[in-house]
Amino acid sequence: MNILGTLSVFPHIPERIQRLHELADNLWWSWNPDAQALYATLNVSLWDSLAHNPVKFLREVSQKSLNQAAGDENYTALYDRVMAAFDAYMHPDATWFDQTYPELKGKSIAYFSAEFGLHEALPIYSGGLGVLSGDHCKAASDLGLPFIGVGFLYSGGYFTQRITGDGRQDAFYSKIKFDEVPTTAARNSNGEEVIVKVDLSGRAVYAKIWKVQVGRIPLFLMDTDVPLNDPQDRELSARLYGGDNEIRISQEIVLGIGGVRAIRALGYDPAVWHMNEGHAAFLGLERIRELVQNQGLTFQQALEVTRASCVFTTHTPVPAGHDAFGFDMMDKHFGHYWGQLGINREAFLQFARQDQPWGATFSMTVLALRCSGQANGVSKLHGEVSREMWTWLWPGTPAAEVPIGHITNGVHTETWLSPALCPLFDKYLGTDWRMRIDDPTLWQGVYNIPDEELWSALQEGKERLFRFMEARATNRAYRMGEGPARLKQIATFFSPNTLVIGFARRFATYKRATMIFSDVERIKRLVSNRERPVMILFSGKAHPADEPGKEFIRQICQIAQHPDFEHKVMFIEDYDMNIGRYLVQGVDVWLNNPRRPREASGTSGQKAALNGCPNLSVLDGWWAEGYDGRNGWSIGEERMYKDEATQDAADALSLYTTLEDEVVPAYYQRDDDGISRRWLNITRASMSSAGWLFSMARMIKEYTTDMYVPAARHDAVMSANGYARAREVAEWKHRVQFHWPQMFIEASGPRDGQLTVGEPVEINATVRLSGLTPSEVAVEIVHGFQDGAVGFTDEPMQLVGRTDDGGYLYRGLLAPAASGQIIYGVRIVPVHPDLFNKHEMALVRWA
Ligand SMILES: *Cc1c(COP(=O)(O)O)cnc(C)c1O
Repeated sequence: MNILGTLSVFPHIPERIQRLHELADNLWWSWNPDAQALYATLNVSLWDSLAHNPVKFLREVSQKSLNQAAGDENYTALYDRVMAAFDAYMHPDATWFDQTYPELKGKSIAYFSAEFGLHEALPIYSGGLGVLSGDHCKAASDLGLPFIGVGFLYSGGYFTQRITGDGRQDAFYSKIKFDEVPTTAARNSNGEEVIVKVDLSGRAVYAKIWKVQVGRIPLFLMDTDVPLNDPQDRELSARLYGGDNEIRISQEIVLGIGGVRAIRALGYDPAVWHMNEGHAAFLGLERIRELVQNQGLTFQQALEVTRASCVFTTHTPVPAGHDAFGFDMMDKHFGHYWGQLGINREAFLQFARQDQPWGATFSMTVLALRCSGQANGVSKLHGEVSREMWTWLWPGTPAAEVPIGHITNGVHTETWLSPALCPLFDKYLGTDWRMRIDDPTLWQGVYNIPDEELWSALQEGKERLFRFMEARATNRAYRMGEGPARLKQIATFFSPNTLVIGFARRFATYKRATMIFSDVERIKRLVSNRERPVMILFSGKAHPADEPGKEFIRQICQIAQHPDFEHKVMFIEDYDMNIGRYLVQGVDVWLNNPRRPREASGTSGQKAALNGCPNLSVLDGWWAEGYDGRNGWSIGEERMYKDEATQDAADALSLYTTLEDEVVPAYYQRDDDGISRRWLNITRASMSSAGWLFSMARMIKEYTTDMYVPAARHDAVMSANGYARAREVAEWKHRVQFHWPQMFIEASGPRDGQLTVGEPVEINATVRLSGLTPSEVAVEIVHGFQDGAVGFTDEPMQLVGRTDDGGYLYRGLLAPAASGQIIYGVRIVPVHPDLFNKHEMALVRWA
């Protein structure tokens, strides 16, 4: 035939099930198994082959399947049930947020992130940061937050991973067609599509705004692939973390500055702005620029308004994970910009300066910290490490008091919960469990699940994982040109009685993926035991530029091919949320052995714990808080080592011993019915301890109560009456800064000596405040244990008189509440009712 054209013919959706389209466009389906079943049951292999993407599925499913479904009573009953649940979700009578903070009705919270991991059908995430952002949006929707997300719609996504025969990672980029994913063009109040403009070193760059609906909340994603742009700028938003520093700064300008403009163009005026990681920190500059240009504020006044409503979350203790740009780059991209902020080059560069071994840089983390009144790390340990890491920004302030707090990460329960466990939750935790996820008492319900039912739900998860792996392995064997004998063999690799260990994450080297092979003979003995077989599954991508990370993948793939380890060690290609779900719902033990304390939080282990898969992990990130001695196992100790080699050797030894002496014996200690009750105890402890504590519901409530609500209230105070309070605070800070160097403090108290607990010692101080008054400062006794183990306590001293030369006399009592070696000091800090924290100005004067 002489082909004149190719036409796509989409099926027509029968009237009776018309709303399948509408449902496909709301990511609510991504955490609702019944909604997914509406598509999957029409053609499961098509559903699987299209990455569970309902938009694409509805274009490709056959007309016949749709017609049949529309006439099938079972199908239409499921359809009606799902639609009723969807409508109830979208239009609730009341939400947690409305009930808890009614006064914040009508406000909005804008959340900026470079990546969002919502579902495998929308591959615009690379790993933990993205999955966390996606889960954050879902739970914000569940709890009724007035939330909007801002990010990128990367047309090339992250990359697809293929492993070659000799274990090399190849990266492929395929183009996402936006009409085939659940996204639509965002529209303003006039119904027009929205395009924003930013300036990149002298040229205009445009971004179109797309909208992804996540339950009740919209996520706005930018895309620079528009005809208005030069060809190279059209590529700017093609890839996530794909380019050099030039692309990086350009993307971050579009995210931070373009993102603010997008929100304005869409008609929002957020009361809270959340920077999820430093990538988004330029949003602080853009907000200052708006206030300087449109409201006539000075830089300092605008900064006060901006700080009040900005919240910053830092995500990594690895120094290289914090973006910083050379001053030459800043000149190039911001030479036209700092003037619009009302400051000069010197002040601009100084504002976010970080001196690195290779020179002075403009740090996105410093910028974010300066522009945000509140900042946090993502686990208790990571909070401590972050305070240490950034303590240089607060000279004179003890690290323990640096104003960076922590809110430990969590996961979105419904997204990650095994379909095999879901009915057991309905039955034994109560049908309202979805509304009570962060309630610890709810999770005691797992002790009511009968042993047989729990054991078989865990087995079912494993069977599903094995079937998935079999299909993947068969596909790959085809690709590698294997013959039928080999293909048939694959099914025999998977025996459900095997203890399966899972390890899946980004292949950053500090995660030490190859640690379990550091003593090859020892691990060989473990996996080849005939009575008590063990299998180890790996999955994960290394950043394409990370050669050592790719080398780890190569080593594991080569081990997996060695006759001693064949079928016992396997690497699953192209880790994504789909594989993530199969693994956390199907393996028996979740292994994590990062080099402590580099893992900020980690969340995959939380997903596993929720599914009754206990963690075997280094006491880093969330596990340092989560491990309670009954709900899994720890690797290594909570201590520092003289060098990495010593630490690696000690951790490896601990890993082997724990596996051999505890994990394997517990799993194989079977009763007559084939169930290990010893194992189920650990499983139940895992679910009941982690299910609520490391849930997104708990996390979102903490962000709301501890950070968003204070920010919104601060924002209202600062903005009222033409920003009157912001002007006052800026003026006050200016005055304090001026007088601070001229102040004087001298204190007297015992230099050494002995006391008993509860016996107070008197301390006296004389201060001269230059032009400040006593109401503007606090004079404090700060004391704590010499080893610094439990941090410091401060107690205010009382103003008791004046000196002849205009100074002030303060007196206080030091009364230690516990025995030990105590150290103490006396200091002055500035106080003002509008400060979030007394260390906000980084001014402290010690006697
Ligand atoms: C949960 C998840 C992560 C994050 O896991 P970590 O424990 O932080 O490494 C990364 N990638 C995918 C696909 C995930 O689902």
